[in-house]
Amino acid sequence: MLSDRIDILSESITIAVSTLAQELRAAGKDVISFSAGEPDFDTPQVIKDTAISAINDGFTKYTAVDGIPELKTAIANKLKRDNGFDYAANQIIVSNGAKHSLFNLFQTTIQAGDEVIIPAPYWVTYPELVKYSGGTVVEIATDDNSGFKITPEQLKNAITPKSKMLILTTPSNPTGSIYSKKELQALGEVLKGTDILVASDEMYEKLIYDGEFTSCAAVSDDMFNRTITINGLSKSVAMTGWRFGYLAAKDTALVKAMKKLQSQSTSNICSITQKAAITGLDGSADADVEMMREAFSKRKDEAVELFNKIDGLSVLKPDGAFYLFVNISKIEKDSLKFAKKLLEESGVAVVPGVGFGSDGYFRFSFATDIQSIREGIRRIEAFIKNNY
Ligand code: PMP
Ligand code: GLU
Repeated sequence: MLSDRIDILSESITIAVSTLAQELRAAGKDVISFSAGEPDFDTPQVIKDTAISAINDGFTKYTAVDGIPELKTAIANKLKRDNGFDYAANQIIVSNGAKHSLFNLFQTTIQAGDEVIIPAPYWVTYPELVKYSGGTVVEIATDDNSGFKITPEQLKNAITPKSKMLILTTPSNPTGSIYSKKELQALGEVLKGTDILVASDEMYEKLIYDGEFTSCAAVSDDMFNRTITINGLSKSVAMTGWRFGYLAAKDTALVKAMKKLQSQSTSNICSITQKAAITGLDGSADADVEMMREAFSKRKDEAVELFNKIDGLSVLKPDGAFYLFVNISKIEKDSLKFAKKLLEESGVAVVPGVGFGSDGYFRFSFATDIQSIREGIRRIEAFIKNNY
């Protein structure tokens, strides 16, 4: 009954583990979850107020498929202010979360035989959506020795005549590493003279603890021309449930093609969310963003210290985002087995590294209150003492 196409796709492991943790909790089990990639904070009041006004004003009808003009202006202003780019309205499209932006991008650019280069560990969704679009995934492995970043040499070796796109995530989910301007320039040099597109996922741009954030498209004219920037508000202003994401590209024909796809699938995103997103983008919530960033930063410092005290485990301090990618390879190579047993025996939910393309690690989200973080790490330590 099902199409071959859908069989290619696996379920999102991040969502699967979060859902399982919720179900176990609902069934009365004492479960602490570090699996969800979403802030534990509420959406800032100033954003909610805009949404409430939009409802009361009756802004409840269909809108332009790719976003209302004032939202596009707010996005263009944000891209100018924060990233130094000039994008016109027809170079921007608003979608149902950055995940949907990525879906549209792959569907409109990838065809059978195209290779998409994905550094591992990667965010779980990329390879699945690439495969669903008919593309072939070419992974570049990295580990904690290289700070989870690919080198120009590795990129050069991964390129073939079939290479269509490189996906870069900075800061990274699941490792929190960020590429410096110099590193991005060096990768850009390797791409020069090719037609390879760069999909730059900058969802965690506002969550930087060490170092400086640089947009891929900002490092050279050549990179600007080939880069498609993907961003949203789910992480920076805790708007995961509102479903807002966007994409900006130099190529207006590409954006037009995505608009066509969206016009025949989801149409516009929620009209209320569009109004709220303007407030999320225009700087009105900057104090809230900073408050959350500082809170995450403190939790990260404590969690890193606690993990590194546990025999057999090691973790790098992330430069951004809100994840730790903890190395367990000294005690257990099979991350799925580790995560399953940890959840069953100790009621702690983490996401196995194998889902991100790197076995021997687990991802721990510190977008959770500090008491839970302390108790969770205490349970992990006890679990390891009992089992390894
Ligand atoms: N990119 C990355 C790297 C992410 O971690 C996420 C998390 N959901 C997304 C994109 C998608 O975010 P959303 O669809 O909520 O905008
Ligand atoms: N991106 C988040 C995560 O990595 C949310 C879950 C998802 O969309 O897969 O956990």
